[in-house]
Amino acid sequence: MTMHPSIAMFERAGDCLAIGGISVDRLAERVGSTPFFAYDRRLMTSRVALLRSVLPADIKLSYAVKANPMPAVVQHLAGLVDACDVASALEMKTALDTQLPPSHVSFAGPGKTTAELTQAVAAGVTIEMESPNEAARVVEIGNRLGIRPRVAVRVNPDFQVKGSGMRMGGGPQQFGIDVEEVPSLLSRFATADLDFLGFHVFAGSQNLHADILCEALTKNVALLLKLADECPWPVRYLNLGGGFGIPYFDKDRPLDLAPIGECLGELMERAIRPRLPEARVVIELGRYLVGECGVYVTRIVDRKVSRGKVYLVVDGGLHHQLAASGNFGQVIRRNYPIVVGNKLRATDVESVSVVGCLCTPLDILGDNVALPRAEVGDLIVVFQAGAYGLTASPTAFLGHSMPVEVLV
Ligand SMILES: *Cc1c(COP(=O)(O)O)cnc(C)c1O
Repeated sequence: MTMHPSIAMFERAGDCLAIGGISVDRLAERVGSTPFFAYDRRLMTSRVALLRSVLPADIKLSYAVKANPMPAVVQHLAGLVDACDVASALEMKTALDTQLPPSHVSFAGPGKTTAELTQAVAAGVTIEMESPNEAARVVEIGNRLGIRPRVAVRVNPDFQVKGSGMRMGGGPQQFGIDVEEVPSLLSRFATADLDFLGFHVFAGSQNLHADILCEALTKNVALLLKLADECPWPVRYLNLGGGFGIPYFDKDRPLDLAPIGECLGELMERAIRPRLPEARVVIELGRYLVGECGVYVTRIVDRKVSRGKVYLVVDGGLHHQLAASGNFGQVIRRNYPIVVGNKLRATDVESVSVVGCLCTPLDILGDNVALPRAEVGDLIVVFQAGAYGLTASPTAFLGHSMPVEVLV
């Protein structure tokens, strides 16, 4: 059996998986309780280095904090990337607590409250405006505070990106301002007291197809350059989005970065630089930077057989790691990569179902998976827990306690 590429990224210590160089059984003792999330800082560092080696040198990298807002993780990444994108006031606070200057923090997302916008204007972060109403509120807040808000317009393109796990652009959307409405919006706000920086487009997430991503980037650039031509202000910022995916399931192949690097190189050289020589050009990634760098570790509390089927019942579940249970945007439930973290070398494999401790049949972490024979006390490790793990899960379910998070 070939090993899933995300499992192969981690080191081993004898029989055990190692995270941050620490074997998982020792790490469980150090954390003091299960379940927990552990993120490997070295893997994050090498992921950023990989991107830097492939992308053109003058493309800036922004980390989309919502993928993993653990303050220590954001702090670590802030030292590696050029910027952070946030989607709430709390995420903004976490980003502002790092070494990044406020000008390198951008705030996107529909439904920003007036209180959040006020904090953003006062902080001096870049507000990616998602509607005319939001734009009007930003102007008003700026006038009231006597501060010129730094703004960009998030554009909803007039095309869709195929092959994305989640579509967030094209057609009617709660995200961004429809491209055909942008010129009139800009002229309406031409005399407003705004520090207008440029444009942002983010049209989809979790895409594993380099050719489709290249096509989307090319179209995004054409779209934004056309808007720049009609813009009453000089354009100093182009955020091209991202949507780079990671391989969750058996048949998924890792994203081939090389063609994307080439495509961006050509776009920079032929399209963007001749027209906007000084603009900050940004790629914004969440999942791709952290998703594969984290695991969810949960301990087996019961082993039972029901009518011939083996169940391993663990002390965690979908309340901590909803995505692995298949209830976060999956249509057909498929298993995330999973191992018995302290029995990597065992060969007596059996087919089991790993279920969480919640009283719902939805609480499945692995359905009919081949694992070495495991007993009560063994540690189940679920991969791909570095992005949209704890942050995207209903942690208060059944009143169970919060899992610990460690960056090692
Ligand atoms: C969610 C989001 C991202 C990050 O998406 P990933 O798939 O995690 O890379 C980037 N930009 C915006 C505006 C987002 O909403």
